[in-house]
Amino acid sequence: MQRYVSVALHLDSMAQAAGYPAGYVDPTYRQVIDRFLGLAEKFGFSYSMYAIGRDLEDEHACRRLREISAAGHEIGNHTWNHYTDLGALKPLEMREEVVRTHERLTEAIGKAPKGFIAPAWSYSDRLMRLLNELRYDYDMSLFPSLLYYPFVFKNALNHIGNSDKLLRVLNRRDWTQPILGSRDPFLRGNVVVIPVPTTPGPLGMAVWHTTGFLLGWDRHFQMMRDALAARRYFHYVIHPADLTCDEDFDGSERMHLERAAGSLTEKMRRMEECFAILAESGCQWKTVGELAREARIHLAASIAA
Ligand SMILES: [Zn+2]
Repeated sequence: MQRYVSVALHLDSMAQAAGYPAGYVDPTYRQVIDRFLGLAEKFGFSYSMYAIGRDLEDEHACRRLREISAAGHEIGNHTWNHYTDLGALKPLEMREEVVRTHERLTEAIGKAPKGFIAPAWSYSDRLMRLLNELRYDYDMSLFPSLLYYPFVFKNALNHIGNSDKLLRVLNRRDWTQPILGSRDPFLRGNVVVIPVPTTPGPLGMAVWHTTGFLLGWDRHFQMMRDALAARRYFHYVIHPADLTCDEDFDGSERMHLERAAGSLTEKMRRMEECFAILAESGCQWKTVGELAREARIHLAASIAA
């Protein structure tokens, strides 16, 4: 059975984390994205990147994304403001977050995005109805693992002192999904939902690059291998903060991302080790859009059978 692997870069920019301070020159669409692109060249794959609409008010970011898209990487929608309670927003607010980014991306890269990921994996039925209406091919916002609860709790702790962000972290409509949500892709209307990959078993742990920082790298590498062996469709979620380093910041930014600092040599080495595990898994590299197409064919065949 052919298995597939993708690398999904959620473009959570440093400007967004810092609250878009005036005059801030964001390293995300500059040296940081170059580090990621260098690794794709080395390992021979194309990314699926998901952009925050508000970052595209910066012409430099637009130009970079246009070049990246033209080079064969996929660009998807990660909402306008990156509100972590997207799934719980009122219909008009939710629509504004998704549609405004959709239009900006279409204009910036010359084609409409087909893939979506909600900030902080904020999944809801309302969101799925909206993505169906907007004819998205796939969504990756479901987090079917008990790691969800400590993840939300940790995020809340990071935002103590910022009541707006704290309330958004806790305002969710998907509290039961870690237990009830499917661990394999499924169709919701016409949208293929691709859940975060998990290790096998009912207590399966979600695996993305951050789990290495949280749980330790040896455990993370083993979890990657277990999840890769268990899943026909695997995507590896990474963020700009995984490859930022002390030199990228002048100290004026108020960051809520503790892993944004650190040594670049060490962070590059960890990322390369993870990509090597993906490369050695026997899976075929795909963008998430291509992976969703394969999953759709497979799902349609199993419904027909
Ligand atoms: Zn994000």
